[in-house]
This record gives sequence, structure tokens and C-alpha cells, in this order.
Amino acid sequence: MLDLKKDIVERFIRYTKYDTMSDGNLAGVRRPTTPGQEVLLEKLKEELDELGLETYYGEEKVVMGTLKGNAEGKTIGFMAHVDTADDVMGDGVKAKLWEKYDGSDIQLDGVTLAVKDNPDLLKYVGSDIITSDGTTLLGSDDKAGIAIIMEAIKYLVDHPEVKHPDVEVYFTPDEETGSGMCKFPHERLKSFCCYTIDGGDESEIECECFNAATMKINLEGVSYHLGAARGRLVNAVTMASQIVSALPQAESPEATDGRYGYYCPLELSGTGTKATLTIFIRDFDLDSFNYRIESVKSIVNAISLLYKGKITVDTQISYHNMAEANKNNPEATEAIFASGKKLGLSFEEAIIRGGTDGARLAETGVACPNLFTGGHNLHSLTEWVSVESMNHSANLVLGIIDFWTGR
Ligand SMILES: [Zn+2]
Repeated sequence: MLDLKKDIVERFIRYTKYDTMSDGNLAGVRRPTTPGQEVLLEKLKEELDELGLETYYGEEKVVMGTLKGNAEGKTIGFMAHVDTADDVMGDGVKAKLWEKYDGSDIQLDGVTLAVKDNPDLLKYVGSDIITSDGTTLLGSDDKAGIAIIMEAIKYLVDHPEVKHPDVEVYFTPDEETGSGMCKFPHERLKSFCCYTIDGGDESEIECECFNAATMKINLEGVSYHLGAARGRLVNAVTMASQIVSALPQAESPEATDGRYGYYCPLELSGTGTKATLTIFIRDFDLDSFNYRIESVKSIVNAISLLYKGKITVDTQISYHNMAEANKNNPEATEAIFASGKKLGLSFEEAIIRGGTDGARLAETGVACPNLFTGGHNLHSLTEWVSVESMNHSANLVLGIIDFWTGR
């Protein structure tokens, strides 16, 4: 196992200082949604240029770099996102390095990172961890991923004796807003498979995610003076609430985990004459995912007939389960487990109750398993990352590249 810890830490902390919190309200309006992301993307392009990679940064606002191979083998890629979440403040990050962590609770500004709530901390007693100062998130999601990729690439540049095929890297904006992959230079991608480095604990490799759809339901009522409304008034608010009530409560996010999918009414607004309702559909299984979408349409149809209101449904597929592309190209996952074994690391295959940028690439048939960053408590004030895990992840990246050399 190579010890790249010092350089990874320096690089990661430097990237956390860029204010790259994305803004979901501007998804599809501005790309990237926040100017800070562009600053970091430009910086990353510059750093890849300095390392001697062929780079591309165009109107898609995705940084792409190719490290030319010095050996035969399939081209493979690695991907991470520059933006951070806005669940808590994501800008103004002041990272704190806790050297040789002693196993006790960590007191931050206003919040405590308690061992009893974070038993994983005890796996890293004696090694270094990084937190924010407690007033912001840390941004290991996904700047740890970027630092891991950059250090692995730098290692190959510094060690020309190490054989490798062409390696591509991709840095995307706006993953957290779900719009990151709406523009992607697909025609430039040469990678046989493309690993995202956007996971959490190092015990898990993720090869499956949800199928996801957003259903926007537009309801139109008919207004009348309420005193003379009998048999005439059509109330959009009533229709919307009836649709929500008809959704099975046992199949909601708050009632499910593991492999169970769900219906989730997430936004409801309007008046008696006009209302909109947004429902999220999530399922690992494609057939039951489609069944859920059809079920909502049936409910809408029934309510529309019952109340004689006009209801339209607009269904947008957000992403599909990446399992299919990963199963069709089993070597992509095999590379992870074989390389991990060589490094003395063991993982389990886990499922993501969400999506990744890779899920969007997987729709084009490219296998995109997700590797760990070592980050924990993502999107929160008590986010922390294990330096040891980041080092393991960078070694895993190099191991995977080695796996593909000569294939
Ligand atoms: Zn992420």
C-alpha cells in the first residue's frame, strides 16, 4: 500500500476552500448553478494541464482529462463532482485535521461529533480524520473524490515506469441538484467503464441504485361562488389531497429501507382552481418502478372522473438503476474486488437508495460502479472523512488501473 496521505490531505483541504455549494433552484436555469463551481472546474483543468494530460473544458462545463497510456489496455475513466450540498451551509468551509484521533467525542463549534452516534469513528483511532469547524459541512462529498483521483493521476505522471492504459478523468458540476449530467460530452468518452468516487464508508462498493422518476401533476378546478357551488364547483385542492391519500403509506420513504421502493408526495401547492402536486417514484426493480408510475396515473384518472376535474401528468425519468450496465460488464466490478484483495482491503457490494452521476452514464451502457471516499455524515455539520480511507481509495484507483493494463 502506497502512503499518499500527506499529499491527499493537503490537496483535499485546499479544494474544500473553494465555495462550490450548488443551488437546486437554478438547476436547468444556469450551468453551473453557482459561479464558485466554475472557479474550481477551471482550476482543475489547469492542474490537469500542468500534469500533462490532454484536457477539454467546453460549454458542457465538465472538465475532462486524458492521461495517455504507456501500455495496451482498455481505456477506463474516473469521475467526481465539484459541487457540495446545500442541506447545511456548504460555503466558507474551514477544515480541521485531527491527527492521531484518540477515540473521544470531538467538540466542534456548536455541535459535537459523538462516538455513540458514530461508532465508525472507532475504526480510525490512532489515524487522522478531518472535520469542518462545525459551522458548515466539510465537502468530502465529493472533494475527497476529486483529491483521490488527482493524487492517483499525479502518481502515474511522477512514475512513468508504472504501466497503464489511457485513463480518463471527469469532473462534473451540480450533482447535488440532479442536473450535473444533463449536459455531458458523451461523444468524447472513450472509457469502457467509468468509476465514480462518490461513496462513503470504505466497507462498501456500490453497483446498484434506484430507478427514479418525478411525476408533476397539474390539477385544474372550476370555480363558483361557494354559496352556489353544489354540483358545480371542482376543487383542485380537494383532488390533490385525494391523490395523496390514495398513495400507499406503507410504501413511503419513511416506512421503507433496503430494497423496498416507494411513492413520495414531496410538493403540493395551489388554490381551488389550480394546484400542482409533485410525486417522487423510486424502485430498484424496473418492472415495479413502471408499475408504480402506472398506478399513480390510474389514481389520477379515477380522481379526475370522480370530481370531473382536468388533471394532467408529466412524468420525467431522472435516472435508471445502473445495475444492468454493471451486470453486462462484470469485469468492471471484478476489477475493484481483485484490486482490493491485492491491497488487503475487503468490501461488500451495497445498494444506493439514491442515484449517482454514474447512473446517467450507465444508461448509455457504460458500467459505472461507485467507489468510497471515506466520508461520513454527508450533508451535515458533523461530516467527517478518514484520511486512511482516502489513501485506500487512491490505492484502489491505481490498483484498478493496473487491473486493466494489458486487457
Ligand atoms: Zn456526491
